[in-house]
Amino acid sequence: MTTTRGVAVLGSTGSIGTTALRVLARQRDRFHVAALTAFTNATLLRAQAHALAPTYVGLAQNGAGPYDAGWRTGAHCLVEAATRDDVDVVLNAVVGAAGLDATLAALERGKRVALANKETLVMGGHLVRAACIRGGGEVVPVDSEHSAVLQCLTGRPGAEVRRIILTASGGPFREWTRDELRFATLSDALQHPTWSMGRKITVDSATLANKALEVIEAHHLFDLAYDRIDVVVHPQSVVHSFVEFVDGSVLAQLGAPSMELPVLYALTHPERVPDTGVPPFDPREHSPLTFERVRFEDFPALQLGIEAGRAGGAAPAVFNAANEQAVAVFLAGHIGFHDIASAIGAALNALGVLPGDTRDALVAADAAARCFVMERFAC
Ligand code: NAD
Ligand code: MG
Repeated sequence: MTTTRGVAVLGSTGSIGTTALRVLARQRDRFHVAALTAFTNATLLRAQAHALAPTYVGLAQNGAGPYDAGWRTGAHCLVEAATRDDVDVVLNAVVGAAGLDATLAALERGKRVALANKETLVMGGHLVRAACIRGGGEVVPVDSEHSAVLQCLTGRPGAEVRRIILTASGGPFREWTRDELRFATLSDALQHPTWSMGRKITVDSATLANKALEVIEAHHLFDLAYDRIDVVVHPQSVVHSFVEFVDGSVLAQLGAPSMELPVLYALTHPERVPDTGVPPFDPREHSPLTFERVRFEDFPALQLGIEAGRAGGAAPAVFNAANEQAVAVFLAGHIGFHDIASAIGAALNALGVLPGDTRDALVAADAAARCFVMERFAC
């Protein structure tokens, strides 16, 4: 009898979580779903639990909906699910800083964390690295750009890398003029041209805050200085990123814009497996592939995030928390599109120099940034 690896899917009711369950359903000879958690959509969680019969089901939000006897409830269920003995791989598909403790706890227990929850690395990259060293765990990215970089780098020594170039779709406002951007609405911001994703990351893609999070994520994942990470706009989202080596040679990883392959690769890396259901790649279908410069001056959240990453300490956590809070208030219809970047900038000015060396210091900076945005921008 072959044994399969147990996977905990944290955030199983979201965009990445449901994609992951589709991917895992085709890989039953390699993996089984050992644990599921969600925060919203208890009805979907219940259907998933009945179909997959995991040994652990957790609803992170108390009172979020109907739950079955035997389910665990409350915020601690992410860490419980991530540290179980029958879990080998933790697929962290939670949105936001709420995913931090589960990532750290899983790494301390020596697990592989297939990480979609980029906010974890942005907030506490150095804590994540220390947890990997102490516990023997490893982080494998789910984000398509970072999966592409990892696929290009695997088998090569880090010293051979000169630079990486992350691609960005440019979001729904890529062709909007500065004047038009002043009138951007919530429904405009939610119309992503190439990817179908959760609401928070969709807004992050419109402001380009998502690309700032990804630059910081790449800095920690690949141990690269910020001046060796570039961004280029690529509207078709087919080239998922580039790696330039010291001899000038450039590798890229390509594919149709779907998260199924990055999710699967994060589970199987460094192996590749057949029978993924992905149709053959026809370059003609994706032609032409184009590349443009980033309009940093019109999308200030990107530069703010990169500068926060360079500054270190609590600045990346403040950037992330101010962005999360401003996006939540924007999604609720209380502020405009431009206010998101203004809120991030003001929070960084006020709180960017807070200390960030411990988990508790980062959690305090995160809370301070959220309060700051609520007080200054939400009333
Ligand atoms: P989503 O909003 O669709 O789903 C989020 C999931 O997390 C849901 O199951 C929700 O119930 C759960 N959740 C929300 N708040 C929580 C909390 N406080 N505690 C515990 N669980 C909570 O989001 P998504 O689009 O699937 O994105 C998830 C993560 O993956 C984000 O970090 C995002 O940046 C990243 N990511 C997403 C995509 C994509 O295509 N959607 C691509 C790359 C990276
Ligand atoms: Mg991405």
